[in-house]
Amino acid sequence: MIDGGRLDRAQNSEFFKKLQSKSIFFSQSITYGPHTIAAMHAVFSGCYGNKTGTNSYWSTYKFKKEKFKTLTEYLHKEKYYTQADVVNELVIPKQGFDKFLIHDEQKNDLTLRHSEMLQKMKEKNLQGENFFIYLQYSNIHTGIMNQVLKVFDNFSSDYFNNRRLNEERYDSLFLNAEKYLEKIFDTIKNLELEKDSIILVMSDHGISVGEKIGERAYGVFCYDYTLKTFTYFILPGISPIKITQQVRTIDFMPTILDFLELGVDSNYNSFDGESLIPLIEGKILKEKYAFSETGNPLEQKSPPKEPNTKSIRTSKWKLIFNEYNNTKELYDLQNDPNEEKNLINQNLEIENTLWYELQLIINKN
Ligand SMILES: [Zn+2]
Repeated sequence: MIDGGRLDRAQNSEFFKKLQSKSIFFSQSITYGPHTIAAMHAVFSGCYGNKTGTNSYWSTYKFKKEKFKTLTEYLHKEKYYTQADVVNELVIPKQGFDKFLIHDEQKNDLTLRHSEMLQKMKEKNLQGENFFIYLQYSNIHTGIMNQVLKVFDNFSSDYFNNRRLNEERYDSLFLNAEKYLEKIFDTIKNLELEKDSIILVMSDHGISVGEKIGERAYGVFCYDYTLKTFTYFILPGISPIKITQQVRTIDFMPTILDFLELGVDSNYNSFDGESLIPLIEGKILKEKYAFSETGNPLEQKSPPKEPNTKSIRTSKWKLIFNEYNNTKELYDLQNDPNEEKNLINQNLEIENTLWYELQLIINKN
């Protein structure tokens, strides 16, 4: 998981183009939360955080683990050895992991560290054990933390007036992520893990390069530069394909379970997400609405306890609801991908449809 990886950068990258040529690539996969904690709890549970309890920076321990079974728990029950290496203990649900490791993002060499971990997995594999390993590449975040979060605030003119500098800063961090992934894939290839492993390369959310005043990094707004993530699935025996239809990161877990033919445990709540295998096999799957939410800190230093900014999206339209001041925004994503022209209150039918659907999700129907 490339933390803070932007889709547009991946699509311009030689390495990611190579990766795409052997993957099932989703060009519109939408995250539930534009920050790690909410985003990844949703991925691991296949459910939105407004149901699981993890809907903000503050709510890792509010995750309703009696009601939501994580991907790790499913695999652990199937006797997979399960291991994570992450930036801190709050970012993903811990349950089901045999080994839960935390790296020092300022000090550790993640390329080396993760390559060694893959070697260990191979040894387990040779002894007849299946494994699930979750590796977080946290160094884009590290750079943004040191060079942006600690230096500017969400309204600093020094930041927003220097778009080119912001772009260059992000690009150099992204380049390191590419180098990391290239080495990791070399290791995977050398260990011959590719043949019979599901490999998912994903980002949890994007990061601003100064598009909208009020958000210097991520987690403030629900615009596409943070909501759109990149997703490359390698599934043994399934041909590469590019899928442009909107999907949601909550669909990944049901997809993996479906591919492994693991039944859904009816003792737990059902998923908000759904298996994408039909889509991957070229069949028709009706596009679903994608819901996202976050806590805009406004003038405060830290985000609120509960989300105050919500959005609902199709591949063509997005409605944003700014709950803190009761305003809405509507964007025509096809003709205005940068979300610059707010079309709210112009009697467009889609506004009513999206508002209705958003209410359904907020009220958990
Ligand atoms: Zn993140």
